[in-house]
Amino acid sequence: MDIATPPTNPNDNPELADAAPTPHDPPVIRREDYKPFPWLVPEIELHFDLGLEATRVVSKLTVARNAKTKPQDTIKLEGDGLELLSVKVDGEPVNNWSMEGDDLIVPLSSEAHEIEIATEIDPSANTQLMGLYASNGMLCTQCEAEGFRRITFFPDRPDVLSTYRVRMEGSKQQFPILLCNGNKVAEGEGDNGTHWAEWHDPWPKPSYLFALVAGDLVANSGLFTTMSGREVECNIWVRKEDLARTDHALESLHRSMKWDEETFGREYDLDLYNIVAVSDFNMGAMENKGLNVFNTKYVLADPDTATDADFDAVEGVIAHEYFHNWSGNRITCRDWFQLSLKEGFTVLRDQLFSQDMRGEAVKRIEDVRILRAAQFPEDAGPLAHPIRPDSYREISNFYTATVYNKGAEVIRMMRAMSGVERFREGTDLYFDRHDGEAATCEDFITAIEDGAGLDLSQFRNWYRQAGTPTISVRHEVEGETLKLHLKQDIPATPGQPEKQPMPIPLRTAVHSRSNQALGEEQLIVLSEDEQTFDLPLAGPDPVVSINRGYTAPVIVNRTLDRADLVFLAARDDDSFARYEALQELAVAYLVEAASGELTEGERVEGRSAITEAFRSILTDDALDDTMRGELMMLPSETYLFEAMATGERKADPGAIHAEREALKAALGRDLASEFHSLYDRCEEVAFDDPAGRGARKVKTQVLVYAAASDPAKAAELAAHQFDKADNMTDRQGALMVLCGLDAPVRTDKLKAFYERYTGNALVIDKWYTLQALSLHPDVIAQVEALADHPDFTIKNPNRVRALYMAFAGNPLGFHDASGRGYKMIADVILALDPLNPQTAARFVSPLGKWRRIEPGRAALMKAELERIAAVDGLSRDTFEQVSRSLDG
Ligand SMILES: [Zn+2]
Repeated sequence: MDIATPPTNPNDNPELADAAPTPHDPPVIRREDYKPFPWLVPEIELHFDLGLEATRVVSKLTVARNAKTKPQDTIKLEGDGLELLSVKVDGEPVNNWSMEGDDLIVPLSSEAHEIEIATEIDPSANTQLMGLYASNGMLCTQCEAEGFRRITFFPDRPDVLSTYRVRMEGSKQQFPILLCNGNKVAEGEGDNGTHWAEWHDPWPKPSYLFALVAGDLVANSGLFTTMSGREVECNIWVRKEDLARTDHALESLHRSMKWDEETFGREYDLDLYNIVAVSDFNMGAMENKGLNVFNTKYVLADPDTATDADFDAVEGVIAHEYFHNWSGNRITCRDWFQLSLKEGFTVLRDQLFSQDMRGEAVKRIEDVRILRAAQFPEDAGPLAHPIRPDSYREISNFYTATVYNKGAEVIRMMRAMSGVERFREGTDLYFDRHDGEAATCEDFITAIEDGAGLDLSQFRNWYRQAGTPTISVRHEVEGETLKLHLKQDIPATPGQPEKQPMPIPLRTAVHSRSNQALGEEQLIVLSEDEQTFDLPLAGPDPVVSINRGYTAPVIVNRTLDRADLVFLAARDDDSFARYEALQELAVAYLVEAASGELTEGERVEGRSAITEAFRSILTDDALDDTMRGELMMLPSETYLFEAMATGERKADPGAIHAEREALKAALGRDLASEFHSLYDRCEEVAFDDPAGRGARKVKTQVLVYAAASDPAKAAELAAHQFDKADNMTDRQGALMVLCGLDAPVRTDKLKAFYERYTGNALVIDKWYTLQALSLHPDVIAQVEALADHPDFTIKNPNRVRALYMAFAGNPLGFHDASGRGYKMIADVILALDPLNPQTAARFVSPLGKWRRIEPGRAALMKAELERIAAVDGLSRDTFEQVSRSLDG
């Protein structure tokens, strides 16, 4: 599964908003309590009589005792909100069953049985969007993690694997297309205008990978020939009016299939691969075997309606779900504590794929930016947890940046330590050894150890310990050698006061500033609390370039002179190190300025160093514009928040925002001519020119600096870009800048944008997001008005995220000193909780930062959390997040 990425403002503040039913305490589930299920369910047959308001489900389970467990005389089948119609055992109706909460207990006396259960559900009333639900007149499913139990009674856990045979029947007019997992084996006409289809999936799978779709859909189809010469029919299913925007998705799928063969040796294993786009969806997409269900946001794209970043996101998510066919479906998770087994590994695989498609350096910076904006705050806050958690109340709350993104970083470190070829031997062994199984993170680590010949005994701490390590760096010169002293500190996190040192691989080089010589890179591994490494010098005035390529997900604490950082920003041969030096220069200055630690003279000095570094970025002809656009972005306010809230010091979002804006204005003024000549050059580049992408990125960045330094000029330039735009990237970039300005043209262009795209839900989502993220002084009132707009509905997760998740990631509005922003988000949580608890709970973490913020705002945030906690009947999802946020 892919978490729906919270809306981002791709061109200015890359803030990823985090994220993201009983009144008594829901039970805590612990990893150490795992026990295999006492029954095997090798086969299941499902009959669906489909209707939007009433769907009847008959399931036939073949069950047999699991010889590896203690025999039991009952079977417990999980359910959630089901209406039970009948139970049969071995063909005979029985009435000796009982209910335990929502679960069904059926007595069984022999070694093997057939159980038949009939239930009825109302998909149109399913606002949680878990299980079988109605969306725009079609029926679709979402079963990960625990949605299948909302369809029928079943051992709804990932270690029970079954082969599925499914018959679906329904109105031919309402549901002309009937899709399920696997291959279609039969179809026909029924009575009264109905038709039916039978599907069979030969690969045993857990219930969370079940999927069904019925609706009025059309497909963009193409054949893919696998490495062994088999032909696979690939279909992208959408509503008729969306068909023209599906070519990119289909091409992305074919590229993913080919890449996985070449890079990991993995071939697809069915004759059919279906992707269906759905507009009501909690997540980004879901990897159901042979039938992926996608949020429309990650399928539909054309230059008029989607930005370059949207194109990348479609390609990345299509790849992610496809790669799950091996890392997730063929080998699944034993229990949900092992979620990172499939998600961490699959995120790494999709990141490597995107690097190969679009270039390693920029993709790496983007991934690190997301990690820092979404995962670092999680790791430093009350919701911190290891990538393999030890306990949970509601598993939906653990689809986190920690499990996904840090999980990917941890596996990336294994790859860095073993080297690419040996890592491949490790993954080959993993796929061979565990194919068809429900495995654990430990199984994965052992396979990499055996296959790649690596000792990972101490490395396992990365799976056990939460918290982002900080590496302190100092050095001295001894003759021809640089003595590099490194020290690691892993902060205490909830439930984990003491930490063990972890192996931390760091690609490192020692350059010489005075003779501009670049040293040779080597990989060092810090595995003790403190360690010293001897490195060769490249000349006098050594400058250490460390954690190049961001080999380890850590915070590096080094005190480099400004001159050294300017040198690294301009000259380092590692692009990531260059980016990092610039960020460090800006972070150090902004945090000190926001903390009131700088004299006026120090401010001037700090700004001029940053200006010089920026000048070298703006004027370096050797730099590709895509990278230049990346380097031009200042650290996000979320990241600055993290950097400021260290030790005893609290973050002050008001001061951070003011200082960051002031720096933008200073850069815009001092580099005005460089910015403008850059803009003029980029404006000449045509949309489909290979250099077009970089040019578009740079242009909008120039507008961002102009908005801070010369708002009138920026309004004029942005309006011009908006009017002239022949693509969404330019149009959205211009509108984003206009949204933050107090200019009459702002209203005109917002209206023009809205009218142009009325009826296109994904673009109207952008219209919401741009306004919710804006730096306009009246942003709170604007968001309130947008919620009253007829296009707003709290029932559509994309729309809710587009408005409110964007607003929760708007440092200006959300952290308004009055507390109105906090209250607005708390109100959203309370309104959403009864309808869609999974989405409601994702809004809690922004408020959970209260302990690390200055006292005035902290009290306001805490009061909102307490107001939520006091409400009776909260969902398990929201209850868990709120209570953890208050307990810390
Ligand atoms: Zn996934």
